[in-house]
Amino acid sequence: MTLIDPDTLVGDVTFADLGLAQPLLNALHEAGYERPTPIQREAIPLALTGRDLIGLAQTGTGKTASFTLPMVHRLIGGPRRTRVLVLTPTRELCLQVEESVRKYSAHSPVSVIPVFGGVGYEPQEKALRQGVDVVVATPGRLLDHLEKRNVDFSYLETLVLDEADRMLDMGFAPQLNRIVEQIPRYRQTLLFSATMPPEVEALARKYLRKPVVVQVGRRSSAAITVTHAVYPVPRHRKNDLLVHLLTKEAHDSVLVFTRTKSGADRVVRDLEKAGVRAGAMHADKSQRERMAALDDFKNGVLRVLVATDIAQRGLDISGITHVINYDVPQQPEDYVHRIGRTGRAASTGDAYTFMSAEDIGMVRTIERTIGQEIPRVSVPGFDFGT
Ligand code: AMP
Repeated sequence: MTLIDPDTLVGDVTFADLGLAQPLLNALHEAGYERPTPIQREAIPLALTGRDLIGLAQTGTGKTASFTLPMVHRLIGGPRRTRVLVLTPTRELCLQVEESVRKYSAHSPVSVIPVFGGVGYEPQEKALRQGVDVVVATPGRLLDHLEKRNVDFSYLETLVLDEADRMLDMGFAPQLNRIVEQIPRYRQTLLFSATMPPEVEALARKYLRKPVVVQVGRRSSAAITVTHAVYPVPRHRKNDLLVHLLTKEAHDSVLVFTRTKSGADRVVRDLEKAGVRAGAMHADKSQRERMAALDDFKNGVLRVLVATDIAQRGLDISGITHVINYDVPQQPEDYVHRIGRTGRAASTGDAYTFMSAEDIGMVRTIERTIGQEIPRVSVPGFDFGT
């Protein structure tokens, strides 16, 4: 588990100051959290009042706790009905939110279940029918259950849209609409997003009422502890450069991004050939394979995880030391998301980007987006001379 270093948190506000109930304070103490992060400091008191909220924050800022803590607080002592729904773009994120709710409700009688596709339907149906306080779900599978009337949202009080930008990127807008049509209009809605493109703004206008916007850091700003570097390299030498960097320098755990699924598989094969233990994470892998790769990575069995953008979003992969953009992201926002994977904890993470001749324009766009120039690092023998 990544713990955010309290020394990086300014001010001396405590969780108790935010108005959280004692069972939550006990659970936080056990989790080793000393002080709230900036997004928690801003969002928790507001969410506790029942207001709608837009939280602009990436993974790694403590945003999950900024909605799960007030949510558990408000559930304590209430009737046993489904009162909270959290929608997440991916199964992995769904499980992480569930874990977070369980952690903070260790001393509170709050029940939670994760609902996502790719696994057995009946156990979820049974659990939903038995009744549960919090449902954490991906949109597609939840709709199946709603259509079969396995779940009753008539008492729903709070809707959380986590990583709203990614849900829209993944094409979930129609499902979101159909779900929101079936839950009470008078509710609290919390929307979290790393970025605020016009589509997310439109979504917020539609689903939220007089929301307060809480933003940590500048819009699209990259995590400050990350050290960036661009490696100019001819396209056909990228793999040699990767092997070179992974074998010549000490890197504990590295997340490598490729543009395509086949690219990810190819990089894994080449790394294995060079004696570097690596696993792939992309949409063609089954849920079980993805979880196994993630476990191996977390346990240090795999040093390198090679992922596509869709597969990585929202994952809490603790202790990543490096992110390597083997392929330059296609959107500048993806750069911010990708490097949000590193620099999460006290230690600084490094983000390397391989740049071939055709990527020069996109790298400039990324630099404009994050508001800083990224230093070029030339490795003798690999540099293509820009
Ligand atoms: P998140 O941004 O929600 O993905 O959280 C990033 C990581 O920070 C997770 O591993 C959390 O367990 C951890 N974390 C969240 N809040 C705090 C806090 N106040 N103090 C220390 N660690 C935290």
